[in-house]
Amino acid sequence: MRVLLVEDEKGLSSALQKLLQKERYEVDAVYNGTDGLDWALTESYDAVILDVMLPEMDGFEVLRRLREEKITTPVLMLTARGSVEDRVYGLTAGADYYLPKPFETSELMACLKAITRRGDAVPRMKLAAGDVELSESDGKLRCTGTGKEIKLGAKEYQLMELFLRSPGQILPRETIQERIWGYDSEAEYNNLEVYVSFLRKKLTFLGSSVKLKASRGLGYSLEVGE
Ligand code: CA
Repeated sequence: MRVLLVEDEKGLSSALQKLLQKERYEVDAVYNGTDGLDWALTESYDAVILDVMLPEMDGFEVLRRLREEKITTPVLMLTARGSVEDRVYGLTAGADYYLPKPFETSELMACLKAITRRGDAVPRMKLAAGDVELSESDGKLRCTGTGKEIKLGAKEYQLMELFLRSPGQILPRETIQERIWGYDSEAEYNNLEVYVSFLRKKLTFLGSSVKLKASRGLGYSLEVGE
């Protein structure tokens, strides 16, 4: 899951970044409305956390322009203004949720989970295939056959999640690359091989029959053994 955080209060921004990273979200942080709009238009995100009171362009304007450009990324708006008018305006301008400051971090996480889930075209699938299952709560990959489990790193988790969402399908390298590392990641291009090899080692450790198969020139697929 990749999130764009548009918040000009540095302290709050860095606290939210830490929190989100801990919850295994990939976070890009920007500090004004213009950058927020730029990044939201050019990058691919699962959600945008958008402050209302921002330098250069306010959150409502950012949101309005995003929707005008047919960008349907779920948006969670944050604001110190808590009036009913703002709340109504935010929702009619296309916000998916409106969270008045100050808020509890648990509240923010619940909202974020709700709006990103809502954004799925199909109901959330169980993160399991063959004899492995991935636990969202502790980030562990388990093999139901052997009963073994192992903790995954943040990137490994994201990659495994992607594979488990479409077992048997070849995922093009570019698609994986974009989902996990975002655009403009030439420097990290080879990381995909590295992370796939990490996951393969872990699958072997678990004694799983699930394989990550490389199809030359095409991409990778998760294959469920018999
Ligand atoms: Ca602000």
